[in-house]
Amino acid sequence: MEDLQKHYGDYHALRGITARIGEGEFFSLLGPSGCGKTTLLRTIAGFEELNSGVLMIDGKNMDGVPANARPTNMVFQSYAIFPHLSVEQNVGFGLRKDPRSAKEKDFAVQEALEMVGLKGYGKRAAHALSGGQRQRVALARALILKPRVLLLDEPMSALDKKMREQMQVELIKLQRQVGITFILVTHDQEEALVMSDRIAVMFEGQIEQLDDPETLYRLPKTRRVADFIGTMNFLPATILGQDDEGFDLEVAGLGRVQVPARQAPGRPTGEVSVGFRPETLTLMYDGQTSNDREAPGVVEEVVYYGDMTYYDVKLDGVAKPVRLSMRNVPGRQVLDRGMRTRVAWSPNALVLFR
Ligand code: ATP
Repeated sequence: MEDLQKHYGDYHALRGITARIGEGEFFSLLGPSGCGKTTLLRTIAGFEELNSGVLMIDGKNMDGVPANARPTNMVFQSYAIFPHLSVEQNVGFGLRKDPRSAKEKDFAVQEALEMVGLKGYGKRAAHALSGGQRQRVALARALILKPRVLLLDEPMSALDKKMREQMQVELIKLQRQVGITFILVTHDQEEALVMSDRIAVMFEGQIEQLDDPETLYRLPKTRRVADFIGTMNFLPATILGQDDEGFDLEVAGLGRVQVPARQAPGRPTGEVSVGFRPETLTLMYDGQTSNDREAPGVVEEVVYYGDMTYYDVKLDGVAKPVRLSMRNVPGRQVLDRGMRTRVAWSPNALVLFR
């Protein structure tokens, strides 16, 4: 994809998308509602025409190539299953003009059903299936056509949380098994982190950051990427000095800190802030000591999550509380609201932002 542009009338939906997706990659387009991810997926599929830019699939320019002649196939959010047909008829639908014999086609249908874990379900009526089973039928129907690229538009958004988590794992396994390139559209950051080899985070028709899940989480380039993926605390900071090695900072609530250049992927200047994830902070109990640096504060809120407790702590000299998360282990005392505490933190966990 090179400098893809798409306008709807005055509205500029894709503002120069450039990326290369590798063969066999599980690639996700992640971003808030309206950022253009579905539009991008539909232009790859050929359902939407680009205004400019070059889209190549498998070395071929897709300019002027209609959707049905592209080596792509799409699984829709709604699954688009025919309720009055059987599971087999749904899966075999795309083969109706295929010159192979009925027997060969049936073999392909059974193979696809087995692949998605629906062996033995072929004769069932599609309208009698559960949400998760419908999703599998939709996948089987797309895979039977052996596309080079499978496009998935929020395919799990209709499923409940448990089912969705189960399907995510199945989908990863399926993708490894078939070796086809998957491009998934999702607004669910957790889903993108769990499933993807790489993720393109989009805002306002552009890719803001394209990285593997761990890099995106650990070293987000901008505050809004950091905010969109997980939770990030921000504290205002002043740059006291700067060289090739890194930054010398004065951070509200934390004091003087040196941050290496690699922890500032956005190359900030001027007004800056430091960010850190809740799990990189540790709440200190009475008499406890740590090898990390410590900042004093007051517990403002305690939110219990079973395996985890979130604490909002107002560090001395900072107006907005920071959130930190602690795994709950048996026997550990819980700090209450209003208690004074110390928060241990390490400069290694800080990220510097513009
Ligand atoms: P969502 O998660 O809500 O589906 P999205 O990131 O997939 O969001 P798109 O559906 O790609 O967003 O839409 C991007 C922008 O383009 C939106 O502001 C949308 O209103 C606009 N848009 C999409 N399709 C059309 C269309 N056919 N005509 C006019 N505007 C459109």
